[in-house]
Amino acid sequence: MKMRKIEPKIIVNSAESRYFCGFVDLKNRIDMDGKRKLGTLCVQAGWSPKKGEPRVLPIYQSTTFKYETSEQMARLFDLEESGYFYTRLQNPTNDAVAAKITALEGGVAGMLTSSGQAASFFSVLNLCSAGDHVVSTSAIYGGTYNLFGVTLPKMGIEVTFIDQDAPQEEIAAAFRPNTKALFGETLANPGLAVLDIEKMAHIAHQHGVPLIVDNTFATPINCRPFEWGADIVTHSTTKYMDGHATSVGGAIVDSGNFDWEAYADKFPGLTQPDPSYHGLAYTKAFGKQAYIMKATAQLMRDLGSIPSPHNAFLLNIGLETLHLRMPRHCANAQKVAEFLSQDDRVAWVHYCGLKGDKYYDLGQKYLPNGSCGVLSFGLKGGREVSIRFMDRLKLAAIVTHVADACTSVLHPASHTHRQLSDEQLIEAGVAPDLIRFSVGIEDAEDIIADIQQALA
Ligand code: PLP
Repeated sequence: MKMRKIEPKIIVNSAESRYFCGFVDLKNRIDMDGKRKLGTLCVQAGWSPKKGEPRVLPIYQSTTFKYETSEQMARLFDLEESGYFYTRLQNPTNDAVAAKITALEGGVAGMLTSSGQAASFFSVLNLCSAGDHVVSTSAIYGGTYNLFGVTLPKMGIEVTFIDQDAPQEEIAAAFRPNTKALFGETLANPGLAVLDIEKMAHIAHQHGVPLIVDNTFATPINCRPFEWGADIVTHSTTKYMDGHATSVGGAIVDSGNFDWEAYADKFPGLTQPDPSYHGLAYTKAFGKQAYIMKATAQLMRDLGSIPSPHNAFLLNIGLETLHLRMPRHCANAQKVAEFLSQDDRVAWVHYCGLKGDKYYDLGQKYLPNGSCGVLSFGLKGGREVSIRFMDRLKLAAIVTHVADACTSVLHPASHTHRQLSDEQLIEAGVAPDLIRFSVGIEDAEDIIADIQQALA
């Protein structure tokens, strides 16, 4: 079968010079007029086969790409000619899936990473170097909390954690002249706090820095943070996007809205010549794609963390049904949350779809069609009772995972967050008795029956 030669993405930044890299040129890749709805993008964005080509996105399972002369290859390395040459930098399968996620988020450029952790790390490291500072909400995934609280400081990047529900002035007080970004999660894992994205974007922009939002739990089906002022979105695609617990992966998408040149001194990595890349200045060469181009050309080149094309292929299959699965996750979770909130053996339930939940109003604003399938609750009797309850569940699986088709359950204080001290647990919104319940897409009646028998 003759396969189409996939052209890499090319940016023409001046009449003489052309650069290319693993970023997403939406015009070529989505081949849509920008008015398609999310369901159509889930199914079709990123790969538009032409006559006689595979209907399904092919897996380009190749580390490298062949050229005919040594001179051609040399020109690729000098960025004088376009072409895929090494999968760490760009791969057609990975690029097509990045294009789909970028389209779903409404961004201008995007990239895949090998994990959500890599996406969080790259999103910040792309802006910071030793001596810089980041402000982050404290209600974030435990792995991100460790990355920010322990690993980044070892690299000379300090992170101040703030309470996302604090008044604006209190959050603003955490900013310093060397602050380079504000970070938060649309829906915090596992505390399920809803981020007031507009408020956070306002504070970030007042201080001349971008707002980075981890949109893993909401997915673009339920919330598109760029529409509320966020500048960069990250994902652990491992969760709902993949949806079937097959592949660890991550993504970063740039809205293209943050004006790096307006704060040129604050972001020299983007605005000043890069000695490791022919003295190229990303903002000047790539305009709105500068952030993703730098993350690919510099961070991916030096640190790796590219997903395998096979994993990207599986992710793409998951994405094709994201718009169908999310409403089912939300409808099931709403039923489970309502059941739990009415049972007097249950001490508390956090789910922003419940009237009376602390985040109900923010949920209605940012997630009017539903938040996600994850809820958290505690049982009367505390930690021990919560653990006993989990052990008695039959349908819900105890797994270190969340947000896939199969209902699952976890006790963060004993599992994902066990490295955190009691004080840090409270900061991260993780009560010692908190059970994180990830409602799948089975029949809600069976999920509730399982909970009933375990409670009994
Ligand atoms: N962000 C959130 C909100 C998560 O829940 C997770 C993992 O659970 C991550 C990031 C890290 O993603 P990964 O496990 O794909 O590295």
